[in-house]
Amino acid sequence: MGDVVTKSPRVGIGHDTHRLEPGGPLRLGGVDIDHDRHLVGHSDADVLLHAVTDALLGAAALDDIGAMFPDTDAANANRDSADMLHRAWRRVAAAGYQIENLDCVVLAQRPKLASHRQRIATRIAEILDIAADRVGLKAKTGEGVGPIGREEAITAQCVALVTQVSRR
Ligand SMILES: [Zn+2]
Repeated sequence: MGDVVTKSPRVGIGHDTHRLEPGGPLRLGGVDIDHDRHLVGHSDADVLLHAVTDALLGAAALDDIGAMFPDTDAANANRDSADMLHRAWRRVAAAGYQIENLDCVVLAQRPKLASHRQRIATRIAEILDIAADRVGLKAKTGEGVGPIGREEAITAQCVALVTQVSRR
């Protein structure tokens, strides 16, 4: 009699917004993009990696990114969000989860992200040690209205499907 392997799917959602200020480059999805604005926040303000981090933590019903890396802790000032994502994923993986796929949306009036899409997806996959074809990434503008359209902020969303593998 072999082990009975049970795979339980779980879904998580992440959402984040950071303000834009003049001066580049734009750090987004773990890569630096040549642009005339950058995101501001307590860490390096990588809005996309923060959404991915919360999606994975949420799928496992763990504390969110703000609880794991509080902005009251000086160690998190200007912190590399790739390191935060990596640490969060190690915590989720330690609970027995594997990533099936991620799907992300970036809402930014500028820059056009089409030419950076593959580089960002590859970088996210690298941080998580998964194949790049498990990372979906789409970009939308703000249609020129609201804080996204006025280039005051960038928002990112991510859903993550993970499976918890148990053997009995
Ligand atoms: Zn954030």
